[in-house]
Amino acid sequence: MEPFDYDALPGRVIFGVGRRSEVGEEVDRLHATRVLLIADAHDQETIDQVVTVLGERCVGIFTEVAQHVPMMLAQKVRALATSSDADATVTLGGGSATGFGKAVALTHELPQVCIPTTYAGSELTPIWGTSSGEVKETGRDLRVLPRSVIYDPELTLGLPISIAGPSAMNALAHAVEGLYGPGANPVMSAIALESVRVLATHLPLMKVSPTSIEERSQVLYGAYLAGAVLAVVGTALHHKTCHVLGGLYGLDHGQMNAVVLPHALAFNESAIPEAYQRLSSVLGGDAAGELYDLARTLDTPSSLLELGMPLEGVQRAAPLVVAASASNVRSINEAQAIEFLSSCVEGARPS
Ligand code: NAD
Repeated sequence: MEPFDYDALPGRVIFGVGRRSEVGEEVDRLHATRVLLIADAHDQETIDQVVTVLGERCVGIFTEVAQHVPMMLAQKVRALATSSDADATVTLGGGSATGFGKAVALTHELPQVCIPTTYAGSELTPIWGTSSGEVKETGRDLRVLPRSVIYDPELTLGLPISIAGPSAMNALAHAVEGLYGPGANPVMSAIALESVRVLATHLPLMKVSPTSIEERSQVLYGAYLAGAVLAVVGTALHHKTCHVLGGLYGLDHGQMNAVVLPHALAFNESAIPEAYQRLSSVLGGDAAGELYDLARTLDTPSSLLELGMPLEGVQRAAPLVVAASASNVRSINEAQAIEFLSSCVEGARPS
C-alpha cells in the first residue's frame, strides 16, 4: 500500500428530521450568548422558528445574502457583527449564507453554527470566498471552519428540483474530485465513493418523489459525505474552473458544476486510471458519461452556452484556468484548456 497523509478536521454534526429545534443547545455548547443570525431570506417561517428558539440570545439578523459573498455585503455583515457585539453566528441557508458566516469568522473569529438548506457542503470546510467585481478570492483558514452543523432534511423538502439538481451536482463534484484532489487519501476515497453511490442512487428517486423525506434525507446525507471529503482533500481542475468562470461571468455555481464536472473528469481520466475505474463501477458505466446522463436526469443545463457564457469567452478564461489549476492531477496547458472549456461551452456528452 502507498504511504499517505490524512489531516482530520474537527467539527460536530447532528443529523435528523426536525433537529433545527436543537440550535439553542448547539449555541450553548459554544458558551455563546449573543448570536448574529445570518439567513437566506427564502424561508421566513424557519427564520422565525430559529429566532424563537434562540430567544434573547439573538442580537441581530442579516438577510442580505447573495452568491459569491460580494465584498460590499461582507463588510456590511461584519459591521453588524461589531455593532451588535455578537459572540457567535448561526447561518441558515445554502452555501451563500454559510459563506457570509465565514466572512465574519475570518475577521471577527466568531464561532459558527450552520443549518444548511442545500447540498453545497461549505458548512464542513475551512474554505472561505469573497468576490469583488469579476474576481473571486478564496482561501483556507481554520478560523472559518464551522463548529457545529445541523442537517435537518425537512428544510430541503421545499428545495425545487431546479435548485436541488445543480446543488447536488456540486456535491457530486466534491466527492469525485475527492478521489484525486491534492489531499486525496484512502480514507477519504472510501467516503467519496460512498457519497457518489448514495447520490447517484437517490437523486433520480428524489426527482420522482420530491416530497419523500427518506429520499431527501439520503441526498442530504450523500452531500454531507461529499462536503467532508472536499474539506480534507481540496479541489482540482473542475472547481478551479468553476471559480474562474464564476468570477468572470457570474454564472450560477450549481448549474456550472453540473455542466463542467463530466468534462473535467474526462480530461483527468488518463492521470487517474484506478480512481476512474472505481467511479465507473459505482456509477455503472463510463464515469464521465454517466455523470453527464445523471445531470440530464436532473434537468440541469448541458452547456455553459445555456448559462450565458459565449464561445469567445473561452480564450479569455483559458489562461486563468491554467494558472488556477497548477495543482491538478494532470497538468493542463492553454491549448488543452481551450479544448476543455470549448467542450463545456458546447455541452456534448463526453466520449
Ligand atoms: P445558494 O446558497 O446561493 O442558494 C441558491 C438559491 O436557493 C438561493 O436563491 C436560495 O434562496 C435558495 N434556497 C436555498 N435553500 C433553499 C431551500 N431549502 N428551499 C428553497 N430555496 C432555497 O446556493 P448554494 O449552491 O447552496 O451555494 C453556492 C455558494 O456556496 C457559492 O458562492 C459557492 O462558491 C459557495 N460554496 C462554498 C464552498 C466552500 O467550501 N467554501 C463549498 C461549496 C459552495
